[in-house]
Amino acid sequence: MIVMKFGGTSVKTAERIREVCEIVKDAAKNDRVIVVASAMKGITESLISTGQLAEKRDETYKDVIEEIRMREYEAVEQLFSGSEKADVKSGISAFLKELEELLVGVFLVKNCSPRSADLIAGLGERMNNFVIARYLAATGTEAVYVDAREIIKTDDTHGAANVRFDITVPLIREKIESCKGIPVVTGFIASTTENISTTLGRNGSDYTASILGNAVDASRIEIWTDVDGVLSADPRIVKEAIVMPEISSYEAMELSYLGAQVIHPATMAPAVEKKIPILIKNTMNPTAAGTKIVCAPVRHDTPITGIATMNDICLINIEGSGMIGKPGIAAEVFSVLAKQKINIIMISQCSSEHSICFACGQKEADTAVEALKHDLAKYLEQRIISRIQMKPDCMTVAVIGENMIGRPGIAGKIFSALGNASVNVLAIAQGSSERNVSAIIPAADKETAVKAIHKEFFGV
Ligand code: ASP
Ligand code: MG
Repeated sequence: MIVMKFGGTSVKTAERIREVCEIVKDAAKNDRVIVVASAMKGITESLISTGQLAEKRDETYKDVIEEIRMREYEAVEQLFSGSEKADVKSGISAFLKELEELLVGVFLVKNCSPRSADLIAGLGERMNNFVIARYLAATGTEAVYVDAREIIKTDDTHGAANVRFDITVPLIREKIESCKGIPVVTGFIASTTENISTTLGRNGSDYTASILGNAVDASRIEIWTDVDGVLSADPRIVKEAIVMPEISSYEAMELSYLGAQVIHPATMAPAVEKKIPILIKNTMNPTAAGTKIVCAPVRHDTPITGIATMNDICLINIEGSGMIGKPGIAAEVFSVLAKQKINIIMISQCSSEHSICFACGQKEADTAVEALKHDLAKYLEQRIISRIQMKPDCMTVAVIGENMIGRPGIAGKIFSALGNASVNVLAIAQGSSERNVSAIIPAADKETAVKAIHKEFFGV
């Protein structure tokens, strides 16, 4: 049994849906297949905006519904003919009617609750998987549309719900076993045990695929996207970036947390638990080998596996000679930040203990500094802390790779490459796992930095 997940760009038009169905039919000759698809690219954003507009009593939400309708109907027009076409179209129109009714409610009460927002956002997956299942069936492959809300159960954290695996796994098994034909399952959506709709977070369809793979003990999870695999760097910066044929799940996790947008970070855990390999494939180039993510360390030809970057970072520096040798200050700093729910990306403190610096998202930086100044006012007054400074317009560049473990000289090479390219490094952190060396640099140096490190290790 394999799970094949297709992202929004892979199923964004009738033509793409046709190609994807060919790929599925081909795979179904050798394996039992479960399909998971996202909404057509852009539909989730449009759906979310209808809710936001309606809440503001902006009637143009109706125009957005019509745009969604046009795209969905156009696909149906091109994929089906005769009575089948009319039938699928009326199916889509029922989904859109549900959307309209929800939005009338949102408009009236001037409030799009998180609960309504999830129901609205998930309609794209429901429409698209319904269409795909019907198209497979209409072209001679038995297929069954499965609404994931029946089989994936979560808590009620709307917008990014937590899966209840204990309840979910048996539900999935039972459902998949009873399916006559290929199950075509909606990505992204789920529901609580009270059957209230939830979502697994933006880009959550990858996660849906690995939850399903875990439950049915799949032999492989395939993530079909629009790139050839996991690359050694962002190809928009490094033209010569190479596709990594095989990487470990740890490396994949590091890369995905750092925003290499090939796979959703949560995807790895359910796959790793059952040691299921994940294959990243390109819908537009299906014969390319892709990247295999395996649950064991991988030996690479190069000492590093890849370079990832994270934009819109702010560095915050807390300085003061009074902090030297005084226990508890770091704990206080970070509990102030925790209280504000600020996500810390990187921390570094020198052994002189004269300063602590950390990085957070640019958007959260003002809140962080205000809260620190307010809550640590006593230390500022006593001159234990002399200043709290913020350095905006930064970014993180991270070098990932399991081959770095226990291998001296890698950090040296990274930083001399940056130095030779005149990139000023503002802060450095290496996790004790040694799989990740991260540096904070000015955002303006992004291209220079990534190119320099790539050249150092890959020769191009
Ligand atoms: N359609 C959802 C989103 O755009 C889920 C996904 O694409 O994975 O976030
Ligand atoms: Mg998407």
